[in-house]
This record gives sequence, structure tokens and C-alpha cells, in this order.
Amino acid sequence: MSKSHIFEDHLASKLDVIPADDTKVDAISTQDYFSWVAQSMTDSLVVFGSDGRIAAVNNATLEMLGYTEDELIGQVPDILFEGAASQRNGLETLHERGIIERSDKVFRTKDGRAIPVLYSGSLLYDDQGQVKGVVCVAHDTTKQKQLEQQLRLALQKDHELLQLKSQLIATISHEFRTPLSIIMMNCELLRRDCNISGSENAEMRYTTIKKQIKHMVNMVEDTLRIEKLQEGHIPVKPVPVDLQRMCNELVKIAQNRTQREFSVKTEGTAVETLLDEGLTQQFVTNLISNAIKYSETDSKIEIVIAYNTDCVTLSVRDHGIGIPKADQLHIFEPFQRAANAETISGTGLGLAIVKQAVELHHGTISVESEQGKGSVFTVKLPINPDKHTCMT
Ligand code: ADP
Repeated sequence: MSKSHIFEDHLASKLDVIPADDTKVDAISTQDYFSWVAQSMTDSLVVFGSDGRIAAVNNATLEMLGYTEDELIGQVPDILFEGAASQRNGLETLHERGIIERSDKVFRTKDGRAIPVLYSGSLLYDDQGQVKGVVCVAHDTTKQKQLEQQLRLALQKDHELLQLKSQLIATISHEFRTPLSIIMMNCELLRRDCNISGSENAEMRYTTIKKQIKHMVNMVEDTLRIEKLQEGHIPVKPVPVDLQRMCNELVKIAQNRTQREFSVKTEGTAVETLLDEGLTQQFVTNLISNAIKYSETDSKIEIVIAYNTDCVTLSVRDHGIGIPKADQLHIFEPFQRAANAETISGTGLGLAIVKQAVELHHGTISVESEQGKGSVFTVKLPINPDKHTCMT
């Protein structure tokens, strides 16, 4: 007898499904059809009779568990489950609710292997509404569980590596700072003790050493800053900030150092914006410093602050060297520098700090640039960071 017929007969006999005479042909063909479907399924299908014992199983169940049909028919459900008693949890509710929603269970094969399955079931009723049994479907989730486990391990490893990287950066940066300031101090003393002020050559060397030390100090400080920002170690404390006033003050500081021409314009009605003062000063300063650094001394730098209903846009435009198209895509990532900036000193961390600081305010940053013509960096910030997004 074919497996499908065994299944059909068991189903019919155990569940007392006896079609009325005039519908017999149709009913049997429907049964045949369902039996064929059940046997073709890749998921395990088990039918329990009203006595609670296994009444029918499909091929997938036999293949999954390694039993023959005869070994399973008539058995209590425990034969299917690993740690049978605990796996029965949830099955009790079946009679109350008529259904077991998908739940994770573990099947046990004939040779003792455990197979995780996603298990669901529902009661079978006859025409009079009497419970005649239970039909259950189990989907083998071994591969899914293995993938989940691999993902969990990968995430854990990732987390550990990130922690290690943070610790390493913090330690190295800290260890660099002290010797650098000692070198700087001794360099200064040497200059004074040796009274080099008369020698142009010695003075030039002293300036180079000082510049390189400054570069390393900047690198160490920026690395520490970006690390802290990325790790969320810098708390954002939004307070009402007059962005226009802040920009004017920062421009004044910049003008004291360089004789550059700046313009600061406001569009729309200025309102106080909720921003972290320190972080905002930091990213505006970085954008202004870059505009100065990457443009000629006689070119103008334009800052525009535009207020909309729920957001404010700050743009810093220069007419400098610009950024080649190919470099624009990654320019906000740490240590990325454009090909045309090789001869200009920099760490490649300033824009990454800007991006982190802006994103901590739920804002965005973008750049439009053309090599040889100039760049405009645009920061868009919600006026109230609690509202998160800018609609305008
Ligand atoms: P740094 O200026 O220290 O190298 P940044 O992260 O601030 O680091 O900038 C990354 C790179 O982006 C720079 O090295 C430079 O190539 C490019 N860049 C940034 N701002 C400008 C600008 N205003 N004009 C042209 N290039 C710029």
C-alpha cells in the first residue's frame, strides 16, 4: 500500500471522517488530493487522533525523524519531542484555544539527535463540532538556528573588537600626549638656551619641529574625539543656541588668525535652535577651518544660515581647490583625504567629527564641490532635536 493511502486510511479511520453516500466520490477525491499534498510537503505533518495518539504522519516526518510509519502510528506525542515533558508546554492550551501558534520546539530523532522546529497546530472538528484530533505542522529550523548562532557570534566578536579598538586608541592616544608635550617643552627650552634667534636656519628647523608636533597633537586629539563621539561617550546637552551669533563669534576668532574676508547671512526668521553648544562650536569651527585651509587667502568665505519651519540649514562656501568627484563619496569617513590635498597638512578626521556631531543632533551633512572651483558644505539640523526629522 502506498504511503499516501496509508495516510488517507489512517486519517479516515482515526478521525471517523465518513462521507455521506452521495458525496463519497467527491469526498474521496478531495481526501486523495489532500493526502497527496500532505505527502508532498517538505514540512513535517503529524495528525493526532481523539485518543491523543499519533494517527497519521507524512513522508517529511519519517525522513526528519528516521522512524518508519509503523513505529510512529499509535504512539503518544512524547516520542516526537526532545525532553518531552518540557516540550509539551503550550500544547495544553490547544484544547482551550483550538490552535497552537508557531512556537519553537525541539524534535528528537530515532537515533537521538535534536532538531529545532517551528511548530504549529490546530484542532480537527467533525461536522457536529466535536474535536476529532489535532493536526500539527513542524518546520525544520536547523539551518536558520545555525545562521542565527553564527550571526550572534559574529556580532559578539565585532563588539569585542570594537571595544579592543577603543581601548587601544584611548591608551595609545594618552601615551602619545605626554611625550609630545615633553618634546615640545624641551624644544622650546633648547631654542631659548641655545639662543638660536640669530640663525635663520635653526629658526626654520625649530618651526618645522613645532609644526610637526602640533600636527601629531591634533591627530591624537581628533582621534580621541572621534572615538568618544562614535562610542557615545560625549553626552549631547541641547540648550537654546543663537546660531547666527555663534557663527559671527567663530568668524571673528578666525579673522583674528587669518586676514580672510567672510560674510555671514541669515535667511528666514531667526529662532533659537536646541543644540549642544560645545559640539556645535566644534563642527562649525571645523567647517570654517577647512574653508580657510583649502582656499586662497584672497578668496571670500560665505556662511549662510537659513531658517525653515522645523529646521535650520548652515552652509559654508569657499572658492578653493574643491574636492575631486571620486573622493566626495567617502570624504566624511575617518582618515579620508582627497587626492588634491596631499600637499596641505591635515589628519582626515575633521569632517568625520563634523558628521558625528551633526548626526548626534539628528541632522545631516552634505557637500557640493567642483575641483578648482570650490566647495559648499551644508548642515541641516532640526530646530528641536527631539522632533528628530526635518520636513522642510
Ligand atoms: P583634514 O582637513 O584634516 O585633512 P577633514 O576630515 O577636515 O581632514 O577633511 C577631509 C578631506 O576633505 C581633506 O583632507 C580635504 O581633502 C577635503 N576637504 C575638506 N574640506 C574641504 C574644503 N573646504 N575644500 C576642499 N577640500 C576639502
